[in-house]
Amino acid sequence: MSIDNLVELQEIDTKLKDLSDLLGDLPSKIDELDLQEQSTKDTLLSNKSRLKELEVEMHKREVDVDQVNGKVNKLKDQLFLVTNNKQYDALMLEIDHLKDQRSSFETESLEFLEEKETLTSSVTSMESELGDLTQDLSNRRVKLESAIADSAVEKKSLDRMRDNHLSGIDSNIISTYEKVKNHREGLGVVEISGGACGGCGAHVPPQVITEVRAKEGLHSCDVCGRFLYNNTKLIIN
Ligand SMILES: [Zn+2]
Repeated sequence: MSIDNLVELQEIDTKLKDLSDLLGDLPSKIDELDLQEQSTKDTLLSNKSRLKELEVEMHKREVDVDQVNGKVNKLKDQLFLVTNNKQYDALMLEIDHLKDQRSSFETESLEFLEEKETLTSSVTSMESELGDLTQDLSNRRVKLESAIADSAVEKKSLDRMRDNHLSGIDSNIISTYEKVKNHREGLGVVEISGGACGGCGAHVPPQVITEVRAKEGLHSCDVCGRFLYNNTKLIIN
């Protein structure tokens, strides 16, 4: 293989990168909104199930309070039947105890009610937030799909070309090229320009330039690691 194979691969990859750049930040924005939508849905579900629990608890407390009231009324009736102070004091003690119980049930009820009000208003605002989010997501998905569809034919043909090129290049060289390309703004192969690396501008020794011109072996920039070529004219369609 010669440097020409790599230069061609780079041209294909640059075109693929341009295609993917056309999509801009749409794909990542959609992923982000997707996560946000899911977490809003999860929170809504858990808030709604807590609201149901609260209904049950509040009902229980109502029943409890009714029961205590019944007991208190019975004891109050018995007050009329007592014959001595001792019995009277005992009944009064029991009544006080029941009243304490009732007051703690009522306090709990109030706390549940407050929690319910807070949750209800949060559920309302989250539902409207979720509606906006879902609408936004769906608009962006339509845009992305149409952008992908627009470039689909070109991308498919570039992918096929890329596969063909890969089969003609040593896998170690491909892996070096990929590494450099991923670390160097998508460029793993650059032209020598004015005696310097066309990628980072580092000086290239004359001996290396001569060998690159003669296409003797593969050479890369000492500083940025990009493969170097010289004035190779290639046409990729
Ligand atoms: Zn360089």
